[in-house]
Amino acid sequence: MRKGSVKSHEPSADERFMRLALREAERGAREGEVPVGAVLVQNGRVLARAHNRPIHLYDPSAHAEILAMRRAARKLLNYRLEGCDLYVTIEPCAMCAGAIVQARLRRIVFGARDPKAGACGSALRVLNHCELNHQVEVSSGILATDCAGVIQEFFRTRRKHNPSIVNRAKL
Ligand SMILES: [Zn+2]
Repeated sequence: MRKGSVKSHEPSADERFMRLALREAERGAREGEVPVGAVLVQNGRVLARAHNRPIHLYDPSAHAEILAMRRAARKLLNYRLEGCDLYVTIEPCAMCAGAIVQARLRRIVFGARDPKAGACGSALRVLNHCELNHQVEVSSGILATDCAGVIQEFFRTRRKHNPSIVNRAKL
């Protein structure tokens, strides 16, 4: 886990991009989607940002990471996103981790771990599996408390409005 310098109040680049991802997650929460946000960055420039939208798009694959990668690939006119970094508030699932490998991303930075479905080593290890050729640099724990908090708050509010709802929060 990476920790910010105690002396400096300047947020690191990772923190700045994660804040943008958090803003996306909050946008998702307002739409009633499980709040996960993602930002795709190339050479310090934001190429795409997205939040979870499977409910609104009637698309089980419409996770924040997938949508951000699709947008970035269209922008670059390239299905490979080599040299690109993905910031995402929650550890990617197996589907997204698979797409991350396909896209040949350089680096993944995620906030909170997902012990039930995270595929970067928590529940499964898809990223950097020893059988895979493409290896991705992975950093975790960036603004983890905030990232997990958005999801926890989302499910807390939902339970309040509908106490019978099953808590599907992963965190
Ligand atoms: Zn996913």
